[in-house]
Order: sequence, then C-alpha cells, then structure tokens
Amino acid sequence: MKNKDLKIYLAAPRGFCAGVDRAIEIVKKSINKFGSPVDVRHEIVHNKHVVENLKKIGAIFVEELSEIKDKTRPVIFSAHGVPKKVPKEAQDLKMEYIDATCPLVSKVHREAENLNKAGFHIFLIGHENHPEVVGTMGQIPEGSIKLVETIDDVEDIDIPSNKKLAFVTQTTLSVDDTKDIIDALKKKFPQIKEPNKEDICNATTNRQAAVKKIASKCDMFFVLGSRNSSNSVRLVEVARKAGCKNSQLMHSEKEIPFDEISNSKTIGISSGASAPEKLVQNLINQIKKDRKVSIEEIVVAEEKVIFKLPKELN
Ligand code: SF4
Repeated sequence: MKNKDLKIYLAAPRGFCAGVDRAIEIVKKSINKFGSPVDVRHEIVHNKHVVENLKKIGAIFVEELSEIKDKTRPVIFSAHGVPKKVPKEAQDLKMEYIDATCPLVSKVHREAENLNKAGFHIFLIGHENHPEVVGTMGQIPEGSIKLVETIDDVEDIDIPSNKKLAFVTQTTLSVDDTKDIIDALKKKFPQIKEPNKEDICNATTNRQAAVKKIASKCDMFFVLGSRNSSNSVRLVEVARKAGCKNSQLMHSEKEIPFDEISNSKTIGISSGASAPEKLVQNLINQIKKDRKVSIEEIVVAEEKVIFKLPKELN
C-alpha cells in the first residue's frame, strides 16, 4: 500500500531552452551531414546526460582544438560561446567549424565589441572561469574588460570616475543577485552605461520566476541539472532564498533522498535549461512508487522562441 499523500508543484517553464535545443540539433545535424565522428569543443551544453547521448551517436568532446586528432573533420563550438582566438585558431588550422553559440550569448559578444570600439571600459558581471565568461572576455583586447563577481568586487574597483564605463552580464545569472551588483555599480559610477536590453536571458528569468512562485510552499525542492550548469545551480539558490531551505540539485533520479521525502507533504520540481524533461518524469515516476502523488504545474510564462540553425546546416 502506498503511504501518505504528496503534492508536487512542477515549475514551468523548466528544462531545455531555445539555445540548448538549437545547440543539440546542431550536433545531430552535423553528424547527419558530415558523418561521425564530429568533434565538439567543450560540452555542447552543461548536462552529462545530453553529452553521453551525443557521444553514442558519434560526437567527440574535447576542451581544445589541439586535442583533435583528425583535423579534416569539422568542429562545433559549444552553446556557451568562445573567445575570438578560437575561430581564428580553427582558420589557421584550416578546420571547418560550426558555431553553436546561443544567439543571446552572441548578442552580449557584439555588445562588448561595440562598447569597446566606442571607447568604453567594460565590466562583465559573471562567474570566473565559466566558459561563457571566458568567451565574452575574449571578444575584446585583454585589459579592456574587467570581471565583477560580487558587490565587494565593485567596492574594490579603482578606476577614474570620469572614464566612459559600461557593463554587460553573463546570461544565466541570478536576476536578484545581479540587480544588487548593478545597483552598486550605478551608485559608484552614476554615468555607467547599461545594456539596451537586459543580458540575462528570458529562459533564465522565466525559470527563476517559476521557482520563486513555488518554493515557499514546499518542504523540499529539487532542480534536475548537472553540477557545472550555471543556470541549474542558480535555480537551487533561488529556491532557497524564496523560502525552501531544503533545496537540492539532482543529477538524476538515482540520487533521490527517499528518507527525506518521506517526511515531506509538498515538494517542488524544476530543471535547468540544459536538462532533458525525461529526468523530471523519471524522478516523478520513482516518487510515485512510494507515495500517492498529485501534481500541479505552475506556469509563469510560455516560451515559443525557436532559433535558426547556422546556414551551413540549412
Ligand atoms: S540559457 Fe539563455 S543564453 Fe543560455 S542557451 Fe538558453 S537561451 Fe541561450
């Protein structure tokens, strides 16, 4: 007999965003077009399940072009974007490349480039060493863009206040934490120029808004996603801040803490922008084995965006 009722609040939107969909499609279509193997520089998106499935159909993942054995094969750049020196290196090596950078990351790249050309010193709000941050910083000469991770970093900035200043941000940050950093920047440098349209992407904003709406009602909150997925980690932080202290990142249903769940009446579930929906459904199916589950989906936005594939694959 199944014990106790359990209410599950399901956040929507959750899971794959348009940029992730496009990047995965680019790898699949490239394998179709060029045959396998096809090399991919860095994990195409930060999800182990996605990467393992693509390996099975012929993708090889490398961190640098120098690791690619057969340089006559095409290489794909991941959704996070690459510094300018990477396509240049591919050209020098006479390698064909296909760029799966999310168009919303490319938008930030162009912003940084244009600001640099217009003589602005740029601050990039983001997380050190994240590939998107490495890619954005690598669009313009070293020294003309400075990474800012925290409000303390803003306090430490030592730059003449009459300089032309601007900021851009990583696309997958916490909306609330970033607002605090932006406020600190604006307070210190009232003349600072901000992006015309916010750099944190809609997919990130929508997923965080859905989690925020649900978290305070939940005894536990699970976010399906890999540990290196920035937007998944942010969703866990958002759930905790919104009132569910016991919020956890979960790689797959194999990590379910059944003991803890047995003490819960209500749980929330979401998934990062790179996590397949199958992981959410697997988790729910596992929980259903033990509990009498009712599910309510809380939808805060509908996403209908589809990004075009690169012309090489059309
Ligand atoms: S999370 Fe946003 S920026 Fe990143 S791939 Fe998805 S749509 Fe693009």
